[in-house]
Amino acid sequence: MDYRFLGASGLKITEITYGNWLTHGSQVENDVATQCVQAALDAGITTFDTADAYANGAAEKVLGDALQDQRRESLEIFTKVYWPVGPKGPNDVGLSRKHIMEGINGSLSRLGMDYVDLYQAHRYDHQTPLEETIQAFADVVRAGKALYVGVSEWSAGQLREGQRLAKEAGFSLVSNQPQYSALWRVIEDEVVPASKELGMSQVVWSPMAQGVLSGKYRPGQPAPEGSRATDEKGGKNTISGFMSEEVLTRVQQLRPIADELGLKMSQLAIAWVLQNKNVATALVGASRPEQVAENVKASGVRIPAELMARIDEVLGDSVERDPAKTVSPEQRPA
Ligand code: NDP
Repeated sequence: MDYRFLGASGLKITEITYGNWLTHGSQVENDVATQCVQAALDAGITTFDTADAYANGAAEKVLGDALQDQRRESLEIFTKVYWPVGPKGPNDVGLSRKHIMEGINGSLSRLGMDYVDLYQAHRYDHQTPLEETIQAFADVVRAGKALYVGVSEWSAGQLREGQRLAKEAGFSLVSNQPQYSALWRVIEDEVVPASKELGMSQVVWSPMAQGVLSGKYRPGQPAPEGSRATDEKGGKNTISGFMSEEVLTRVQQLRPIADELGLKMSQLAIAWVLQNKNVATALVGASRPEQVAENVKASGVRIPAELMARIDEVLGDSVERDPAKTVSPEQRPA
């Protein structure tokens, strides 16, 4: 497993991170969740991504329990704050000073840890002054509760302003966490160039387009039993945007390219995002330990330019590239 630096910081993270959205505390039983974490550790993954809002706190608890016997210094733990948590009252959401201060304490208690390595603003909060948010993050860092700070799905302009204020407050934003895959390339025109300028990396989510780029969903056929597209607790809904006949048909045409490289399609999808040097890590999910073992083999793979161009041709107009698709809710969600 290869490591990359996170932004301009001195922190090294594994280029494949295990993320537990939709799975831990929800789609999969706790014993399977623990097996997935163990499979990640066995494969050399030391970086893990979660959030307070995943399964309303249960995902952090499951991850913390699964990692409790590990040496803390050998792990890099990422979590996030913004989406509603707990009883979801008016101050259990967003990026106010109150919610950030209470949010980090809640996350640390569920994880059973004294600090997280990366604390991320899960979206931009249009209803809190950015100065207030950045000052609260600065104080979390000074209290030793988070070592580094990042954001998620911020636009280029928001990254610039956030970084300017962070520097004024005596720290730096090191990362942005956007959706990025061969089917969703909205960060390439604005967010990536701004991030390079600002010393920030991308830590990218859904590199497999939630499993679609693994090729297991065939056009005109029912989704495999137990897959995200059959998960009534939320997965079916979130994956639906990629489940058109056109997308599924084009994805099947990537199979010969994967074969040529001696890769599974899942590995090709993960390796694809890692070709972008501004990407520090691919946040990969898994509902079974065998998937983790398969996916980690994408680390270190180089895809020749000619095959990258063929991937573009195959996916054609199915690829989303509009920078305006990087958005945070205008109002904090209730
Ligand atoms: P992926 O695109 O990696 O999809 C993972 C899912 O695909 C798995 O849960 C599994 O679902 C399926 N899968 C995984 N490996 C294989 C394989 N080898 N063959 C076939 N199917 C496979 O990413 P996610 O959408 O899970 O997101 C990854 C992480 O990104 C999250 O856990 C979270 O940490 C982060 N994230 C952040 C967001 C943000 O707003 N900042 C939003 C969303 C995610 P199944 O078996 O059920 O079909």
